[in-house]
Amino acid sequence: MQLVDGIRRLGFRKWYERELLESHAHLALTILCALALLGAMEATQVFSDWADQLVDALAVLASAAIGLWALRRYLALLMHAEHAANQADCPHCGAYARFTLVEARPASRDITVCCRNCAHQWSIED
Ligand SMILES: [Zn+2]
Repeated sequence: MQLVDGIRRLGFRKWYERELLESHAHLALTILCALALLGAMEATQVFSDWADQLVDALAVLASAAIGLWALRRYLALLMHAEHAANQADCPHCGAYARFTLVEARPASRDITVCCRNCAHQWSIED
């Protein structure tokens, strides 16, 4: 979910929480794929029939591909959430994640927010 849509629908804290949960779900998938990859690699020594080895090779390839995709997705979601969270402090009063959305500029991917504590406005880069 994009930052602007997330702030509009859920607020920043809920959006951030969901981004972290989704990213860590991808980390769990990465770990499962690593275990499946190890199991499939070990199974290559057991099978002697070429059809079984072919199926096992496909399992190795699928585990590796899905694991790499999940790892990449985990890192992208985590970095995006942290990038936004590092800009969520009000530069004027220092309040964290206490702001409302003022304006979203789709061309520049910057959003203007207003602090609920002191009404200071600043931009957050998406
Ligand atoms: Zn403030």
